[in-house]
Amino acid sequence: MDAHAAVDVVVIGGAVMGASAAYWLTRMQPGLSVMVVEADPSFARASTALSVASIRQQFTTAVNVDISRFGIGFIRNFRESLGVEVGIASLGLKENGYLFVTGSVGGAALMAEVAAMQRAHGAATEVLTPDGIAARFPWLEVGDLVAGSFGPRDEGWFDNMGLLGGFRAAAKVQGALFVSDRVVGLKVAGGRIMGVELAGQGLVPCGAAINAAGTRAVEVMRMAGLDLPVEPRKRTVFVIDAPNARHPDGPLLVDAGFYLRPEDRHWITATVPEADGPCDANDFEPDLHLFDEVIWPQLYARAPGFDAVRVIRHWVGHYAYNTLDQNAILGPHPALPNLFLMNGFSGHGLQQSPAVGRGIAEQVLTGGWQTLDLSDLSVDRVVAGRPFRERAVV
Ligand SMILES: Cc1cc2nc3c(=O)[nH]c(=O)nc-3n(C[C@H](O)[C@H](O)[C@H](O)COP(=O)(O)OP(=O)(O)OC[C@H]3O[C@@H](n4cnc5c(N)ncnc54)[C@H](O)[C@@H]3O)c2cc1C
Repeated sequence: MDAHAAVDVVVIGGAVMGASAAYWLTRMQPGLSVMVVEADPSFARASTALSVASIRQQFTTAVNVDISRFGIGFIRNFRESLGVEVGIASLGLKENGYLFVTGSVGGAALMAEVAAMQRAHGAATEVLTPDGIAARFPWLEVGDLVAGSFGPRDEGWFDNMGLLGGFRAAAKVQGALFVSDRVVGLKVAGGRIMGVELAGQGLVPCGAAINAAGTRAVEVMRMAGLDLPVEPRKRTVFVIDAPNARHPDGPLLVDAGFYLRPEDRHWITATVPEADGPCDANDFEPDLHLFDEVIWPQLYARAPGFDAVRVIRHWVGHYAYNTLDQNAILGPHPALPNLFLMNGFSGHGLQQSPAVGRGIAEQVLTGGWQTLDLSDLSVDRVVAGRPFRERAVV
């Protein structure tokens, strides 16, 4: 096979993170050659396609609030934000808010502290008493609760595949090349990535590479002899019909043992499995018992309208779970400064993709964070084993 022409940047993985990085790179530097390599352009097993597709401001670390402040504006005004006409009028944001509830005094104190930080960063989080929760959502049982925190604006859910499709289409218009192939190796010399080896097309020499391989990020790192504390964790999501509980304006409720949100006339719900741990990246067997045995009893106790419930659909997706601190891992790797990571999103990456793609593009093009300082989420902390924990992981 003839030697491949060199490209400026190879992006490994073309779902929402890879597509966002390619979009921002080609927007910031027209003429830059960017190749996005995606092993499965159907995205059948990509977290992006299997996401619950929601955005919130209620994070416990300020940097994640800042990332979502940018994300909500970008998502709300997607067409204008992209700046390129790609035929996607809107991502259909449903701004119903998130409601976190707690039954402990300690939990309520933490909620108040975190809500103050979120408001200082521009969020609208309100801490509610049980009566306040009942006044707003009379279908919820609040007798066991101490407090709740609610985001009356800038939180809700949207079209995940529209976000991905928009980034891809705009990046293509701006000159990015999307190829269907699998990355099988990295060529490293003198402490730098020299090229990316594709199963079909062979070696592509490059100036920089971006790891946007989702749950398979570790496989990419191992191609360079490096490791990363990121593993696939299975989440089974249920779509349920509850004829006695029709509340299309309901929030995304995060309760102690499950979460729930409306989806048209139905609801989406999920929980963390009892024995949560790494799964095989090819294991998409649903944990069906989780609905009857874990979710439903708690759901019925919280909202008696869920007395008659039918599971109408389910799916399995994987979180790319960062075992160190459940936060994103971003930027250049200290051992290979032209390998850039956007990994470990631990279940909250979709909403972060606008800000993270922009940040990674800034790192590649300028060597620093420009618009938003994402250094709290740097690769360095992970290599040093210094956790920067996000506690609001759903
Ligand atoms: C059930 C569930 C619910 C979620 N809910 C939310 C939510 O409400 N809000 C939110 O913000 N986030 C949510 N997330 C998380 C969010 O979906 C992810 O963080 C985000 O989609 C990650 O995008 P990604 O591009 O990094 O990874 P992925 O979407 O997994 O994409 C990685 C891509 O890399 C490709 N790839 C891997 N290895 C190679 C290789 N060697 N060569 C070429 N290509 C390769 C894969 O084929 C894949 O397409 C949820 C996730 C799940 C599973």
